[in-house]
Amino acid sequence: MVIGKVDLGEECKPWFSSSWWRDICSIVTDCWGWRPEKGEEFTVRSTYGLVLNLIIPRDAMPNEERLAFKAIWKGPTPSKVSGFAWMLLHDRVPTRVNLYKCRIIQEDGDQRCVFCGQCAETVTHLFLYCSGITQVWHRVCAWLGLHFLLPHSISSLLNFFATTPGCKQLRQGLTMIWNAVIWVIWRHRNSIIFYNGVADLAGLVDEVKIASWKWWIGKSKASPCLFYEWNVEPEICLKR
Ligand SMILES: [Zn+2]
Repeated sequence: MVIGKVDLGEECKPWFSSSWWRDICSIVTDCWGWRPEKGEEFTVRSTYGLVLNLIIPRDAMPNEERLAFKAIWKGPTPSKVSGFAWMLLHDRVPTRVNLYKCRIIQEDGDQRCVFCGQCAETVTHLFLYCSGITQVWHRVCAWLGLHFLLPHSISSLLNFFATTPGCKQLRQGLTMIWNAVIWVIWRHRNSIIFYNGVADLAGLVDEVKIASWKWWIGKSKASPCLFYEWNVEPEICLKR
């Protein structure tokens, strides 16, 4: 019995009349399949669901957080910003407190918030409870015509934006603006630490308006608007 260039000898002959060999020969084509898609092609969507479920099993996640994780990927937010928001909701952003937990900052190292210099720099403090940042959210909500009540978490605030009554386009636009706020806060915090910048929280609202306007006219399917219109009547622009 010869397979290719190898002579297996006469004693191998019974193997090739066996049922398992016939089964192997009956396989017409062999191909790769992606198990989360039931053997079909690989998709990023199914991989995201798989990874998310590995980090926090879906059944164990509160409904509020489940909605928040869904919301961040919808709308015209740039994907790198949505990715940052995803890390933020998982408390994986390298704030000083998180760096301390990873032992990158030593016990006697500075863990204080760069904006106020008083409280520990946790995600919730840096993006929500720091007094200057709370004012930023107040002013952004006033610009959008929303009534701001200080929520208990950043995901709760995202849900407030993402479930505002109105059309789908409005909700996606508001979610994009939530993303713009956290992105601008994080960039400003980094500019203070790495480029010796000065805390200027009053200017953050204008940065949010400019960033969100660029994202909106760049990727939204809605009619484009001038920055002047965006600044004065954001809700009308979002509903176009
Ligand atoms: Zn602070």
